[in-house]
Amino acid sequence: MHNRDDMVGIDAALIMNTKVWESSGHLSNFSDPLVECEKCHQRFREDDNSQISNSQFLISKQIQNSKSSSYAKASEDKQKDKCPDCGGALTSPKQFNLMLKTFLGPTEDSASVVYFRPETAQAMFVDFKNVLETSRKTLPFGIAQQGKAFRNEITPGNFIFRTREFEQMEIEYFVRENDWEKYFEHWRKEMLGWMEDIGVDLNHVHELEVPDGERAHYSKRTIDFEYDFPFGREELYGLAYRTDFDLKNHFKEPPYRDQESGENFYPHIIEPTWGVDRSVLAALCSAYSEDGDRKVLKLKPSLAPYKVAVFPLVANKPDVVAKAREVYQTLKAKSYLLSFVAWDDRGNIGKRYYSQDEIGTPFCITIDYQTLEDGTVTVRDRDTTKQERVSVSDLASYIGEKISNN
Ligand code: ATP
Repeated sequence: MHNRDDMVGIDAALIMNTKVWESSGHLSNFSDPLVECEKCHQRFREDDNSQISNSQFLISKQIQNSKSSSYAKASEDKQKDKCPDCGGALTSPKQFNLMLKTFLGPTEDSASVVYFRPETAQAMFVDFKNVLETSRKTLPFGIAQQGKAFRNEITPGNFIFRTREFEQMEIEYFVRENDWEKYFEHWRKEMLGWMEDIGVDLNHVHELEVPDGERAHYSKRTIDFEYDFPFGREELYGLAYRTDFDLKNHFKEPPYRDQESGENFYPHIIEPTWGVDRSVLAALCSAYSEDGDRKVLKLKPSLAPYKVAVFPLVANKPDVVAKAREVYQTLKAKSYLLSFVAWDDRGNIGKRYYSQDEIGTPFCITIDYQTLEDGTVTVRDRDTTKQERVSVSDLASYIGEKISNN
């Protein structure tokens, strides 16, 4: 985002005025179908195929996308369903609003009820005019925001796939109506490119063109990017053409004035949306591999928690340890490594390699007796397990180059 001239960032409040959620339709529509087991009283989200087995996956994607429709069909189908835990009968679905409530101020009455944002998007619509006036952007341009979102999910789970507090990255890209197809395609490619950048295996990514009648009512086109998670194919990200629905919800008068023609109008919106937590999960799943009994997390160096690990060959030879400490401190001071350098002097070298492989450290450096004689160290590559001798004086640039090329 920072290297694009057509984009500005904002950091809005987590709790916004309740009127925002009234206008956006979240208070009336942002719900999932909830069913309860009549026997054990466990509650489930009816359209969640990871909670209720595939054969019992009752409801079309419609509810997931519209969050409201298909209700009658669901109720009908639901009768056939059983509790995945105890086999008891499930109740008919009722719509459960996902907005997370709290009170603002010293009284806990209905007038002080407020809601945590369930998405970062709405702030970018209500702040549209402020951004426009301060940034002096002209169409097409985007507003981007990364931050927490909260949903009172009925069935959180599958590791970090679905949580009640999560992190989103969203862009609202404002265009002229005639240009929407061009920019939809532009963002589709950008999203795929970003997945590749963070190491998500594109062989496991599927684009689901959400058909007419199954999209949210405001969307003229939506693509869900789905990923083959170990627990099934599930939504990773979404890309939607939201028309001028949102700005019309929040502004009585057209908020944009064309500089040349003087015409006032409502810009249309392309919205790419990413879940940070699901990105991490997909990147971890894509990076996980096994090589015999060796478990290797082939993370891109840019995502690896540690870029390099430094080991003294033996922990009981002060001169080897001192030299290793020196190398460790030198690397830690390099700005491109941002202090992401690990130190390990426990156990044998083989075990240290294995434990760094498991957390995805791309390079391990060992300081040994030869280092004291000729000033070279061993650099071992996580993915090939090949080892090379590199002189200490060249080490920082050697590592820097490898990391920036990956
Ligand atoms: P789902 O159908 O899985 O509930 P959604 O269609 O409601 O997802 P959106 O409203 O499109 O999701 O939210 C945009 C993105 O935010 C999703 O593509 C996903 O990456 C992320 N996301 C949504 N809900 C959660 C959650 N509870 N936990 C983690 N990430 C989430």
